[in-house]
Amino acid sequence: MGERVRPSVSIGEWRITALSDGFMRLDGGSMWGVVPHNLWKHLTPPAEDNTIRLALRPFLAERGDAKVVIEVGIGDRWEAKWRSIYHIERDETLVSSLAEVGLAPEDVTHVVASHCHFDHIGAMVSEKDGALVPTFPKARHFAPAIEVEMAKHPDHVRRASYRADDVVPVEEAGLLETFSGSAELLPGLRVHDASGHSDGLSVVTLNEEEEGPTAIFWADVVPTTHHVQPAYIMAYDIDVVRSFEHRSLWLARAAEGEWVGLFYHDEHHPFGRVRRDGKKYAVDTIAGEV
Ligand SMILES: [Zn+2]
Repeated sequence: MGERVRPSVSIGEWRITALSDGFMRLDGGSMWGVVPHNLWKHLTPPAEDNTIRLALRPFLAERGDAKVVIEVGIGDRWEAKWRSIYHIERDETLVSSLAEVGLAPEDVTHVVASHCHFDHIGAMVSEKDGALVPTFPKARHFAPAIEVEMAKHPDHVRRASYRADDVVPVEEAGLLETFSGSAELLPGLRVHDASGHSDGLSVVTLNEEEEGPTAIFWADVVPTTHHVQPAYIMAYDIDVVRSFEHRSLWLARAAEGEWVGLFYHDEHHPFGRVRRDGKKYAVDTIAGEV
């Protein structure tokens, strides 16, 4: 194995490494929903234009021969206008951060997507010689069935969050498999419905039913280590009631089990454990080994 140059944690037989597909900025008010500016500005300090910096952080989960990328990132297929609107920073990319741990795109065996919003799935497809092709040509790709449908045929409300080109080339290459509800996609890697933010959003757990610690990839259920109270619901969430229910359920489970959380959008912290703090929740961040 190559030398690890990125933070990682061991969860049972899994080694989980934080990668990077860069950063973006979104409006702080949208990221914080009904939470007052006076409160969130201390947690995620906004720039002058009120945007906050968000990581785009895929995770590599390795166990035996399995090299699984959980959430791929925003990818490269962005016109200058959108790069500027979203302040997309691409000094690091999923492919460059995989190279840092000694892996080429061909080495990735599986890709798991929590949902199909463009900032989570754009990197699944690359442009090569004018054609759109899967970035990971040998990987089995898993995504929630409802989300794939939304990406291909979004309605008016959802149109701004999805792009068909993020999934169709993977499907046409015969590499896309869909799931619904709870499923064990690989030994020790499970997905569970945690919808609300979007129609099919799923969390990913590792080592949940086995000896030792469990990890949970939060996706947009808990986008940063600060979004840890059930009512801290983003304005982007399509079904607020369902989001509250699922956030309450999974935060309680994670705290109870002392699960290690994997955070996709947190600017600074890839890993952290949710715990109860009186009537609220708190997160103890974990530095990870390098
Ligand atoms: Zn999302």
